[in-house]
Amino acid sequence: MKILIINSGSSSIKYQLLEMPSAKIICLGTIERIASTEAISTYKTDTHKVEKTYEIATHKAGLERITSLLLDAEMGVINSTEDIDAIGHRVVHGGKDYVDTTLINEEVKKKIKSLFPLAPLHNPANLEGILMAEEIFESAKQIVVFDTAFHGTLPIKAKKYAVPNVLFNEKRIQAYGFHGTSHKYVSEKANEYLGNQNTKLISIHLGNGCSITAIKDGKSVDHSMGFAPSNGLVMGTRSGDIDHAIIFYMVKTLGYELDEVSELLNKESGMLGLTGYNDLRDIEEEAGKGNKDCIIALEMNAYRIKKYIGAYTASMNGLDAIIFTAGIGENSSLMRQLVCKDMEYFNFHLDDSKNELRSKNTREINTTNSKVKILVIPTNEELEIAKQVYALLN
Ligand code: ADP
Repeated sequence: MKILIINSGSSSIKYQLLEMPSAKIICLGTIERIASTEAISTYKTDTHKVEKTYEIATHKAGLERITSLLLDAEMGVINSTEDIDAIGHRVVHGGKDYVDTTLINEEVKKKIKSLFPLAPLHNPANLEGILMAEEIFESAKQIVVFDTAFHGTLPIKAKKYAVPNVLFNEKRIQAYGFHGTSHKYVSEKANEYLGNQNTKLISIHLGNGCSITAIKDGKSVDHSMGFAPSNGLVMGTRSGDIDHAIIFYMVKTLGYELDEVSELLNKESGMLGLTGYNDLRDIEEEAGKGNKDCIIALEMNAYRIKKYIGAYTASMNGLDAIIFTAGIGENSSLMRQLVCKDMEYFNFHLDDSKNELRSKNTREINTTNSKVKILVIPTNEELEIAKQVYALLN
């Protein structure tokens, strides 16, 4: 069965075509900077690798570009769009009603749309991807996997905010949790590695968006993002935790418009706001040259993660392993070092030389006497979505 996974973001589409159940990757790639004259398209198969710059004005044009690569006479991997059996779409917010992997129909699309205000950066682009795929791959089954799904198990004490009950009961105001596909995938890998399903894990997903999850016996029991993917850790451009009084002060006293504050907290804050850069590689390089803002930002970032590790160890009453994953978690030995520094009280000890090793596999980077394991596990959201799509259809 050929399953195409589409992760349609605000200015990008990531895709992967997999043969299931063998999980063989047939091809994968990205279109980045959609809506610019210099959109970058990448495409990779076993035998071909291309990267080209085009003018790609819309998501539809992006998906058409991907389709023409899949069908290409020389580099292509399918003969007709009908060769694709199913498409798995990543949708960030599923709200209260949609927890499970679901076949897309008009009602599901309406629901995704009704959740636009709750995930304004993500859900509109996700729906756009679905609508375009329905047009181009008419015969394929369209299925959605929600990022909120894994957090359906959050206990009520972690899910509710301490605000009047009417907001929870009638207005859907609660913590939903995000990056669920990634946290689920890496925590299952960790349990496999540890040979135990009854574990207390902390999964730290550090990409452009960053979040941290407490996972007990395979279930999400607490999570740093909340009502929207904005709470918690310091991210590339998002502030993470801030005192909400700041928003009222900015509007009422400093004269900001609400939309400006939203833009500022979501797109101009985090590492970008602190340093002028949002890519950690640039920040690490600058810090190495002595740039004070970059040094402080790295310390703030790690400090926030450490605080959540402390909180989640308390909430689970113990800890077997922490997991680093996603672009920063998998690649930045410096960030891992900063997080693991001075954590003897929590019984974890980093092995500096193992921390420097690179691999695409699960790896343990703690010393042999470390009671808590420190794992680096490459995430694979596409494979997790493909597994769920395959399971739904079989
Ligand atoms: P997304 O959330 O968009 O899926 P990724 O998980 O791909 O993002 O993570 C992207 C981020 O990973 C980049 O912005 C960059 O900061 C970071 N990153 C990637 N490679 C490295 C590296 N070698 N060292 C430090 N940071 C890295």
